[in-house]
Amino acid sequence: MLLIPLPAFTDNYIWMVHDERHALVVDPGEAQPVLEALQRLSLQLAAILVTHHHGDHTGGVAALREASGAQVFGPAHEPMPEPLTRLSGGDQLQALGLNFRVIDVPGHTAGHIAYFCADMNNAPLLFCGDTLFSGGCGRLFEGSPAQMLASLDTLAALPGPTRVCCAHEYTLSNLEFARAVEPGNQALADYTAKATSLRLQQQPTLPSSVLLERQINPFLRTRHATVIQTVQAFDASACDEVSIFAALRQWKNQF
Ligand SMILES: [Zn+2]
Ligand SMILES: [Zn+2]
Repeated sequence: MLLIPLPAFTDNYIWMVHDERHALVVDPGEAQPVLEALQRLSLQLAAILVTHHHGDHTGGVAALREASGAQVFGPAHEPMPEPLTRLSGGDQLQALGLNFRVIDVPGHTAGHIAYFCADMNNAPLLFCGDTLFSGGCGRLFEGSPAQMLASLDTLAALPGPTRVCCAHEYTLSNLEFARAVEPGNQALADYTAKATSLRLQQQPTLPSSVLLERQINPFLRTRHATVIQTVQAFDASACDEVSIFAALRQWKNQF
């Protein structure tokens, strides 16, 4: 099985998994990059997985369904281009012989879901849309800080080697903020150097891993003393874990 990010718009990735005959894609915000890849690699599109309703994740779904007859999967509780199979937390789906478990991750949107495959090429795989980014997390458009914190806790508890396939290349700007939160974090400094070099070569910084994100992503580290300390310097009223998380998100919004 092969895993490739197809760049779309300015900073989206449409993730594609294929076995050299059939493919699935995740969050096709536009059809063209997918159609080009299918043609270039002589693949047939078998399935389309969608994490949430935003246009930069759904804009290409109808055209791809029409062109290929692929089955579309998406969140149970969000407006979606019909027809599709609606899924929510605990549901499973099979595509390309892989088994995916659906995880509810509300926060960025109210009905956002993620797709977790426990084993593809001997390691787990996560498609998390706009919930978890490398070094950051999605903005809270529809959900509460408590919901987003719980969603990120769920993703952070997945196995360390899980490859984290985020839907945007936001890594460098996220790491700039992360360094302001944890200037003494050596893993973060090392990763920043690596990510900077990848971007200079126009390579994706993704997929990340759950293990790496636990070490460098401030939004997964809101219970660490150093993070609590710098967040409280930004907002002295933040005291419990939800208000610390909310203040960190607010700080990032205005950073
Ligand atoms: Zn979004
Ligand atoms: Zn997006």
